[in-house]
Amino acid sequence: MLAFQKADAGHGLRRADVPAPVVTAGDDVLIAVEAVGICGSDVHAFEWTDGYQFLTAHFPRTLGHEASGRIIRVGKDVVGLVPGDRVVIAPVVVCGHCSACRTGQPQFCTNRSIVGFHRDGAFAERVVVPAANCFRLPDGVDAELGALIEPLCVAGNAVDVGAVGWGDRVIVMGAGPIGVGIAWLAKRAGATSVLLVGKDDETRLGAARSLGIERTLDLALAAPDMATTLLGGAADVVFEATGVPETIETGLGWLRPGGTLVATGIHARPVQFDLTRFVRSKQQLRAAYDSSPATFARMLSILAEDGEALRGMITHRLPLSATLEGFEIAASRQALKVMLLANSDATAAP
Ligand SMILES: [Zn+2]
Ligand SMILES: [Zn+2]
Repeated sequence: MLAFQKADAGHGLRRADVPAPVVTAGDDVLIAVEAVGICGSDVHAFEWTDGYQFLTAHFPRTLGHEASGRIIRVGKDVVGLVPGDRVVIAPVVVCGHCSACRTGQPQFCTNRSIVGFHRDGAFAERVVVPAANCFRLPDGVDAELGALIEPLCVAGNAVDVGAVGWGDRVIVMGAGPIGVGIAWLAKRAGATSVLLVGKDDETRLGAARSLGIERTLDLALAAPDMATTLLGGAADVVFEATGVPETIETGLGWLRPGGTLVATGIHARPVQFDLTRFVRSKQQLRAAYDSSPATFARMLSILAEDGEALRGMITHRLPLSATLEGFEIAASRQALKVMLLANSDATAAP
């Protein structure tokens, strides 16, 4: 079958013809991939930026973790899923045995692995994952909307970590799918004023405005203090979804005393900021990364209710065979979400 793999420590991805995966463990599920999104983390691995060297131990590895599809076969121990079911994949596979797993906090599992990084993923015609990582798609949520769930869950988890509440003023730094997802969900969580900030990112900020995130700021065109002016005051919560270390200090400058900054980016370099000012203003710095099964379940109901409002996040659709072209588009920062579709003649048009 066709698969796109990381096989070398360097820029790029290999188009490969590999044997289709098969169900081996009793709890395995074999899925025919119908839609798979290209994530910022996939682009990092593609471009081989710092932070992804761990992949070297897994070469060759089929990437792809934002996927939905149809079940073809299930292992003998699988209960509640049958061939033909349409599902979305939760990419974090947990062990079920460590103390975090046994105390109901699988997001802190110490033996986790991630589909599309530590095990073969979904830039391929078929993928095998444990049944526990499959969530059945509600009727009315099609394959491409289903494949948006993973980045939305990452965004939703960040909003939870930031404890966004009614009346909050929120700034989101970073106009990629995670930043846009955070801004959209922060409004849903009750924030009255949400500002999405990018830098030289007018295309993606424009796409975000079409999703109802009216307030945006491009730092290539305006000074940073415009942010709090547009917001109507200092922020209660700032989210960093850029992966650019310097944005942490900028974000802390926009935050009110006692406010919370949530970092979600993967940073290739360490960060420096004024720790004394940070301490005296009693600000909080938190980290949000991946999500939890509970977040998946909640996001499925949001998608079932309101998914159509998010279809505009998908700015480019291509067939799986054009994955490499999709990566070039995703890396150009002209796309919000590039979606690869199985058996499709889709072109790179919106
Ligand atoms: Zn992702
Ligand atoms: Zn565990």
